[in-house]
Amino acid sequence: METNHLVVDIIAAILAYSRADFRLCHTTGVKPKDTSLHICLRFYQELNDFLPPDKRQVAFVHPLRQGGAIKDVIEALGVPHTEVDLILADGRPVGFDYQVQDGDRISVYPVFESLDITPLTRLRPRPLRTTRFVLDTHLGRLAAYLRMVGFDSLYRNDYDDATLADISVTEHRILLTRDRYLLMRKIISHGYYVRHTQPRLQLREVLERFGLLGQLRPFTRCMHCNGLLEKVDKAAVLERIPQETRAWLDDYWQCRQCARVYWKGTHYRRMCALIEGLRGS
Ligand SMILES: [Zn+2]
Repeated sequence: METNHLVVDIIAAILAYSRADFRLCHTTGVKPKDTSLHICLRFYQELNDFLPPDKRQVAFVHPLRQGGAIKDVIEALGVPHTEVDLILADGRPVGFDYQVQDGDRISVYPVFESLDITPLTRLRPRPLRTTRFVLDTHLGRLAAYLRMVGFDSLYRNDYDDATLADISVTEHRILLTRDRYLLMRKIISHGYYVRHTQPRLQLREVLERFGLLGQLRPFTRCMHCNGLLEKVDKAAVLERIPQETRAWLDDYWQCRQCARVYWKGTHYRRMCALIEGLRGS
Protein backbone atom coordinates (compact mmCIF):
# COMPACT_ATOMS: atom_id res chain seq x y z
CA MET A 1 0.00 0.00 0.00
CA GLU A 2 1.15 3.50 -0.81
CA THR A 3 0.71 4.72 2.78
CA ASN A 4 2.88 1.91 4.06
CA HIS A 5 5.61 2.82 1.57
CA LEU A 6 5.46 6.37 2.82
CA VAL A 7 5.75 5.27 6.43
CA VAL A 8 8.70 3.00 5.58
CA ASP A 9 10.42 5.92 3.82
CA ILE A 10 9.85 8.13 6.84
CA ILE A 11 11.19 5.49 9.21
CA ALA A 12 14.26 5.01 7.02
CA ALA A 13 14.84 8.75 7.01
CA ILE A 14 14.52 8.92 10.79
CA LEU A 15 16.94 6.06 11.30
CA ALA A 16 19.48 7.45 8.85
CA TYR A 17 19.26 10.84 10.51
CA SER A 18 19.71 9.33 13.97
CA ARG A 19 22.82 7.39 12.99
CA ALA A 20 24.35 10.44 11.36
CA ASP A 21 23.67 12.48 14.48
CA PHE A 22 25.19 9.93 16.79
CA ARG A 23 28.41 9.38 14.88
CA LEU A 24 29.87 12.47 16.49
CA CYS A 25 28.60 11.53 19.94
CA HIS A 26 30.05 8.06 19.66
CA THR A 27 33.52 9.15 18.67
CA THR A 28 33.85 12.08 21.03
CA GLY A 29 31.93 10.74 24.02
CA VAL A 30 33.98 10.08 27.14
CA LYS A 31 32.70 7.64 29.72
CA PRO A 32 32.79 9.25 33.18
CA LYS A 33 34.66 7.09 35.67
CA ASP A 34 32.26 7.28 38.63
CA THR A 35 29.14 6.13 36.83
CA SER A 36 28.07 2.60 36.07
CA LEU A 37 26.74 3.26 32.58
CA HIS A 38 26.50 5.94 29.97
CA ILE A 39 24.14 6.48 27.09
CA CYS A 40 24.08 8.86 24.14
CA LEU A 41 20.97 10.98 23.84
CA ARG A 42 19.60 13.21 21.12
CA PHE A 43 16.37 15.19 21.40
CA TYR A 44 14.62 16.47 18.29
CA GLN A 45 12.73 19.61 17.32
CA GLU A 46 10.78 21.42 20.04
CA LEU A 47 11.84 18.96 22.75
CA ASN A 48 15.04 20.98 22.82
CA ASP A 49 13.08 23.83 24.44
CA PHE A 50 13.31 21.95 27.73
CA LEU A 51 17.04 21.27 27.67
CA PRO A 52 19.96 23.38 28.87
CA PRO A 53 21.73 25.16 25.95
CA ASP A 54 24.67 22.75 25.77
CA LYS A 55 22.36 19.77 25.17
CA ARG A 56 20.17 21.30 22.46
CA GLN A 57 20.25 20.01 18.87
CA VAL A 58 23.23 17.75 19.58
CA ALA A 59 23.84 14.18 20.65
CA PHE A 60 25.39 14.13 24.10
CA VAL A 61 26.81 11.59 26.50
CA HIS A 62 24.65 11.12 29.55
CA PRO A 63 26.16 9.33 32.56
CA LEU A 64 23.88 7.32 34.87
CA ARG A 65 24.67 5.76 38.24
CA GLN A 66 22.20 2.99 37.58
CA GLY A 67 19.87 1.72 34.90
CA GLY A 68 16.15 2.51 34.83
CA ALA A 69 13.22 3.29 32.59
CA ILE A 70 13.94 5.67 29.71
CA LYS A 71 10.89 7.73 30.73
CA ASP A 72 12.58 8.59 34.04
CA VAL A 73 15.85 9.47 32.30
CA ILE A 74 14.03 11.79 29.88
CA GLU A 75 11.99 13.51 32.59
CA ALA A 76 15.07 13.93 34.82
CA LEU A 77 16.49 16.00 31.95
CA GLY A 78 13.40 18.23 32.10
CA VAL A 79 11.32 16.91 29.20
CA PRO A 80 7.74 15.92 30.19
CA HIS A 81 6.60 12.55 28.83
CA THR A 82 3.46 14.15 27.39
CA GLU A 83 5.68 15.91 24.81
CA VAL A 84 7.29 12.70 23.55
CA ASP A 85 5.84 10.62 20.74
CA LEU A 86 8.65 8.30 19.68
CA ILE A 87 11.79 6.90 21.28
CA LEU A 88 14.38 4.94 19.34
CA ALA A 89 17.03 2.93 21.16
CA ASP A 90 19.79 2.08 18.68
CA GLY A 91 17.28 2.66 15.88
CA ARG A 92 14.60 0.45 17.40
CA PRO A 93 11.29 1.92 18.67
CA VAL A 94 10.90 1.36 22.41
CA GLY A 95 8.29 2.20 25.04
CA PHE A 96 8.57 4.49 28.05
CA ASP A 97 9.36 1.49 30.23
CA TYR A 98 12.45 0.52 28.22
CA GLN A 99 15.36 -0.17 30.60
CA VAL A 100 18.42 1.71 29.39
CA GLN A 101 21.59 -0.26 28.69
CA ASP A 102 25.18 0.89 28.78
CA GLY A 103 26.13 2.33 25.39
CA ASP A 104 22.57 2.88 24.16
CA ARG A 105 22.02 5.54 21.57
CA ILE A 106 18.64 7.03 22.24
CA SER A 107 16.70 9.39 19.94
CA VAL A 108 13.69 11.17 21.38
CA TYR A 109 11.08 12.70 19.08
CA PRO A 110 8.20 15.08 19.83
CA VAL A 111 4.54 14.52 19.02
CA PHE A 112 4.27 14.22 15.25
CA GLU A 113 1.44 16.39 14.03
CA SER A 114 1.18 15.68 10.34
CA LEU A 115 2.88 12.29 10.25
CA ASP A 116 1.14 9.01 10.85
CA ILE A 117 3.69 6.93 12.73
CA THR A 118 1.21 4.49 14.26
CA PRO A 119 2.79 1.40 12.63
CA LEU A 120 6.04 2.43 14.32
CA THR A 121 4.97 3.09 17.87
CA ARG A 122 2.08 3.29 20.28
CA LEU A 123 3.86 5.57 22.73
CA ARG A 124 1.24 8.25 22.55
CA PRO A 125 -2.33 7.45 23.48
CA ARG A 126 -4.87 8.07 20.72
CA PRO A 127 -5.93 11.70 20.38
CA LEU A 128 -8.98 12.51 22.45
CA ARG A 129 -12.12 12.40 20.33
CA THR A 130 -13.38 15.76 21.51
CA THR A 131 -10.79 18.43 22.16
CA ARG A 132 -11.40 19.84 25.61
CA PHE A 133 -8.97 21.58 27.90
CA VAL A 134 -8.21 22.25 31.52
CA LEU A 135 -5.77 25.09 32.17
CA ASP A 136 -3.43 25.85 35.04
CA THR A 137 -3.86 28.92 37.23
CA HIS A 138 -1.47 31.06 35.14
CA LEU A 139 -3.46 30.71 31.92
CA GLY A 140 -6.70 32.56 32.67
CA ARG A 141 -6.54 34.82 29.61
CA LEU A 142 -5.81 31.87 27.34
CA ALA A 143 -8.82 30.05 28.81
CA ALA A 144 -11.04 33.03 27.96
CA TYR A 145 -9.67 33.15 24.41
CA LEU A 146 -10.20 29.41 23.90
CA ARG A 147 -13.80 29.76 25.12
CA MET A 148 -14.22 32.72 22.80
CA VAL A 149 -13.48 30.48 19.81
CA GLY A 150 -15.75 27.75 21.17
CA PHE A 151 -13.52 25.26 22.98
CA ASP A 152 -14.63 23.72 26.26
CA SER A 153 -11.94 25.05 28.61
CA LEU A 154 -12.05 24.58 32.37
CA TYR A 155 -10.19 27.15 34.41
CA ARG A 156 -10.25 28.28 38.00
CA ASN A 157 -7.59 30.28 39.75
CA ASP A 158 -7.67 27.99 42.78
CA TYR A 159 -7.10 24.60 41.15
CA ASP A 160 -4.04 22.98 42.71
CA ASP A 161 -1.73 20.64 40.77
CA ALA A 162 -3.36 17.43 42.02
CA THR A 163 -6.83 18.73 41.06
CA LEU A 164 -5.65 19.76 37.58
CA ALA A 165 -4.11 16.34 36.98
CA ASP A 166 -7.20 14.61 38.27
CA ILE A 167 -9.58 16.66 36.09
CA SER A 168 -7.41 16.04 33.05
CA VAL A 169 -7.58 12.28 33.55
CA THR A 170 -11.17 11.81 34.70
CA GLU A 171 -12.74 14.28 32.27
CA HIS A 172 -10.43 13.44 29.33
CA ARG A 173 -9.20 16.98 29.01
CA ILE A 174 -5.86 18.13 27.62
CA LEU A 175 -3.95 19.84 30.41
CA LEU A 176 -2.43 23.13 29.26
CA THR A 177 0.26 24.47 31.54
CA ARG A 178 3.38 26.59 31.84
CA ASP A 179 4.67 24.20 34.49
CA ARG A 180 6.57 21.34 32.89
CA TYR A 181 6.82 19.48 36.20
CA LEU A 182 3.05 19.24 36.35
CA LEU A 183 3.15 17.32 33.06
CA MET A 184 5.58 14.84 34.58
CA ARG A 185 2.88 13.44 36.84
CA LYS A 186 2.49 9.83 35.90
CA ILE A 187 -1.28 9.81 35.49
CA ILE A 188 -1.33 12.54 32.85
CA SER A 189 -1.60 11.23 29.31
CA HIS A 190 -2.74 14.32 27.42
CA GLY A 191 -0.96 17.54 28.24
CA TYR A 192 0.92 20.34 26.57
CA TYR A 193 3.52 22.80 27.75
CA VAL A 194 2.54 26.25 26.42
CA ARG A 195 5.68 28.01 25.13
CA HIS A 196 4.45 31.56 24.61
CA THR A 197 3.72 33.92 27.50
CA GLN A 198 1.50 36.40 25.64
CA PRO A 199 -2.14 35.19 25.62
CA ARG A 200 -2.92 35.92 21.97
CA LEU A 201 0.23 34.12 20.87
CA GLN A 202 -0.65 31.28 23.24
CA LEU A 203 -4.05 30.97 21.56
CA ARG A 204 -2.47 30.69 18.14
CA GLU A 205 0.14 28.24 19.45
CA VAL A 206 -2.46 25.90 20.98
CA LEU A 207 -4.80 26.02 17.97
CA GLU A 208 -1.92 25.24 15.61
CA ARG A 209 -0.45 22.55 17.86
CA PHE A 210 -3.73 20.63 18.02
CA GLY A 211 -4.80 21.40 14.45
CA LEU A 212 -7.92 23.28 15.55
CA LEU A 213 -7.93 26.29 13.25
CA GLY A 214 -10.61 24.65 11.09
CA GLN A 215 -12.87 23.94 14.06
CA LEU A 216 -13.45 27.40 15.50
CA ARG A 217 -16.99 28.04 16.73
CA PRO A 218 -16.95 31.63 17.89
CA PHE A 219 -19.78 33.03 19.99
CA THR A 220 -21.01 29.69 21.29
CA ARG A 221 -19.46 29.68 24.76
CA CYS A 222 -19.31 32.07 27.71
CA MET A 223 -15.84 33.60 28.10
CA HIS A 224 -16.33 33.98 31.85
CA CYS A 225 -17.63 30.60 33.00
CA ASN A 226 -17.29 28.21 30.00
CA GLY A 227 -21.08 27.69 29.83
CA LEU A 228 -22.84 27.35 26.47
CA LEU A 229 -24.61 30.37 24.97
CA GLU A 230 -28.15 30.23 23.66
CA LYS A 231 -30.26 32.72 21.76
CA VAL A 232 -32.63 34.63 24.04
CA ASP A 233 -35.61 36.94 23.46
CA LYS A 234 -34.72 40.59 23.69
CA ALA A 235 -37.74 41.17 25.92
CA ALA A 236 -36.52 38.60 28.44
CA VAL A 237 -33.22 40.40 29.07
CA LEU A 238 -34.22 43.98 28.26
CA GLU A 239 -33.39 45.47 31.64
CA ARG A 240 -29.86 44.06 31.43
CA ILE A 241 -29.00 45.72 28.13
CA PRO A 242 -27.61 49.27 28.07
CA GLN A 243 -30.03 51.85 26.63
CA GLU A 244 -27.81 52.73 23.67
CA THR A 245 -27.45 49.04 22.70
CA ARG A 246 -31.18 48.29 22.97
CA ALA A 247 -31.88 50.94 20.38
CA TRP A 248 -29.88 49.35 17.56
CA LEU A 249 -29.54 45.61 18.31
CA ASP A 250 -32.24 42.91 18.43
CA ASP A 251 -30.17 39.71 18.76
CA TYR A 252 -29.02 38.55 22.19
CA TRP A 253 -27.48 35.42 23.67
CA GLN A 254 -27.38 34.25 27.24
CA CYS A 255 -25.06 31.88 29.10
CA ARG A 256 -26.96 28.83 30.33
CA GLN A 257 -24.71 28.63 33.35
CA CYS A 258 -24.10 32.16 34.68
CA ALA A 259 -26.91 33.99 32.79
CA ARG A 260 -24.52 36.64 31.44
CA VAL A 261 -25.99 38.34 28.37
CA TYR A 262 -24.01 38.76 25.15
CA TRP A 263 -24.61 40.82 22.02
CA LYS A 264 -22.61 41.65 18.91
CA GLY A 265 -21.19 44.96 20.06
CA THR A 266 -17.70 46.45 20.09
CA HIS A 267 -16.25 43.45 21.84
CA TYR A 268 -17.67 41.16 19.17
CA ARG A 269 -16.01 43.15 16.39
CA ARG A 270 -12.65 42.99 18.17
CA MET A 271 -13.13 39.25 18.56
CA CYS A 272 -13.91 38.86 14.83
CA ALA A 273 -10.73 40.74 13.94
CA LEU A 274 -8.70 38.43 16.17
CA ILE A 275 -10.28 35.33 14.63
CA GLU A 276 -9.73 36.61 11.10
CA GLY A 277 -6.09 37.07 12.03
CA LEU A 278 -5.89 33.48 13.23
CA ARG A 279 -7.54 32.07 10.13
CA GLY A 280 -5.32 34.11 7.88
CA SER A 281 -2.14 32.94 9.62
ZN1 LIG B 1 -21.31 32.08 31.80
